Amino acid sequence: MTLRCAWIGLGAMGWPMAGHLHAAGLLTGVWNRSRDKADAFCQQHDAVFVPDSLAELATAADAIVICVSADQDLAQVIDGLLPGLKEGQLIVDHSTVSPQAARDQAERLKAHGVGFIDAPVTGGVEGAIKGQLAIMAGGQWDDYQTAEPLFDAYGRVHHHLGPVGSGQAGKAVNQLMVAGIAEAVCESLALLERLDLPREPMLELLSGGAAGNWFLDKRGRTMLADEFDIGFAPALLLKDLKICRALCEQLGFDSGVVKQALADYQQLVDNGERGRDISALIHLKQD
Ligand code: NAP
Repeated sequence: MTLRCAWIGLGAMGWPMAGHLHAAGLLTGVWNRSRDKADAFCQQHDAVFVPDSLAELATAADAIVICVSADQDLAQVIDGLLPGLKEGQLIVDHSTVSPQAARDQAERLKAHGVGFIDAPVTGGVEGAIKGQLAIMAGGQWDDYQTAEPLFDAYGRVHHHLGPVGSGQAGKAVNQLMVAGIAEAVCESLALLERLDLPREPMLELLSGGAAGNWFLDKRGRTMLADEFDIGFAPALLLKDLKICRALCEQLGFDSGVVKQALADYQQLVDNGERGRDISALIHLKQD
């Protein structure tokens, strides 16, 4: 039987992901806090409806997929869904939130007989547009199996990592690495500029050798051209690094990368660069 899915959160990631679900024939309805985005999505995608409330959306799907910003946003969305939810439904959350927030929401939903999978994604806006995301999932194994057709619609790779919260723990590991790579790439390219080396040959050499990585390939050229419009906002990475810091503190695990990146992204946000791409970090390294 085809799974009927409803989508909540049509931001930079959610819009293209919901588009892939529509192309796979799995999407019935969409909801977005700012209704104009949901209406625009509906105009571009046949047979998708926009309900007047989250509770109404909940009544029209077997699985409800969420992609919003942070812990409190996930909680608010689930508050809105609860009056319309019924036993046997499944909620799949692609937002990056803390493992504890995922466990708290799963516990609330369990009391109503509703399943929950935390399934944060990585691969950037480009990965979402191409349907090439990596998806880290936590939850009951049978719920994960139910969600696999969704993951196949916009994922290149997905794995079940353990109980609820495991997906978010995996994402914290990923974000520590993302932050460390961004520190290294932005600092290296600022040094490249200071040395006045030719940019194009250097970018090709760096990408082609042991220093090559996703962030350099996708953002190296744009950051050297002072373009920071596409991608992952500093305010979102700052939120993720706070999750990493809390996990490290719980474990007594010392991370120099998390400390440095937290200080840097806090400064970027304070400098008014919260809505640009995280490669705007090069501004701090250039200074
Ligand atoms: P975004 O463009 O800022 O979109 C956020 C979405 O969440 C919007 O649809 C927004 O609605 C909705 N939202 C926020 N707070 C809400 C609330 N309280 N109630 C209802 N809806 C709410 O963010 P994004 O880049 O798509 O990221 C979404 C999630 O994916 C985040 O957790 C982020 O950390 C994660 N992520 C992002 C990337 C990336 O490269 N951007 C990569 C991997 C993972 P409005 O339209 O009304 O504001």
